[in-house]
Amino acid sequence: MNAICVFCGANFNGDEKLKTAIEELAELMVNQNISLVFGGGKVGVMGLIADAILQRGGKAIGVIPGFLMDKEVGHQGLTEMHVVENMHQRKQLMNDLCDGIITLPGGLGTLEEFFETLTWLQLGLHHKPIGLLNINGFYDFLLKQMDVMVENRFLKPANRELVLSSQNPQELLKLMQNFKAVPEEVWFKNQNLT
Ligand code: AMP
Repeated sequence: MNAICVFCGANFNGDEKLKTAIEELAELMVNQNISLVFGGGKVGVMGLIADAILQRGGKAIGVIPGFLMDKEVGHQGLTEMHVVENMHQRKQLMNDLCDGIITLPGGLGTLEEFFETLTWLQLGLHHKPIGLLNINGFYDFLLKQMDVMVENRFLKPANRELVLSSQNPQELLKLMQNFKAVPEEVWFKNQNLT
């Protein structure tokens, strides 16, 4: 992988474990010459991961819509900054610029970005690995919800397995490097469609 897109919160809750994990992830990415693609802001977890990459001499590439430049305080020290027109263009370009995706803790925006790229993978629109960095079990309920979808036959087991997750940045990167996308058709056979 040459570039990883990180989806993450525009807020930071002060969690020391999360801060340590962000630094570990940045260290691994810079050592392996992997650039960061992210939302381009200076605030929250976004700002922390960008600064951690830049402090170690790595490349950080931001993608931000013009109208969020003030609100998310567009980072001034990035290697590259792409200013786009809207949220759709932001997600599209972030996906185009990377060859793997990691989701760190965040809020609604983070989950929206995570699920959009995951559904694109499920539909075979890209074949990039998608990892959840499950610090402190932050995403346990989300993973459980996907298991409930499988139990209820709204999600195929093969597509549930597309989601890679670990508490540990190094292990997550390994899972992503070994990932081979084998999505199954979303539609169940012999299931009443009405
Ligand atoms: P949050 O997880 O709510 O803190 O948001 C994290 C990031 O996601 C922020 O940079 C938001 O601007 C961004 N975001 C929120 N909604 C969307 C969306 N629909 N498309 C792209 N980015 C979004």
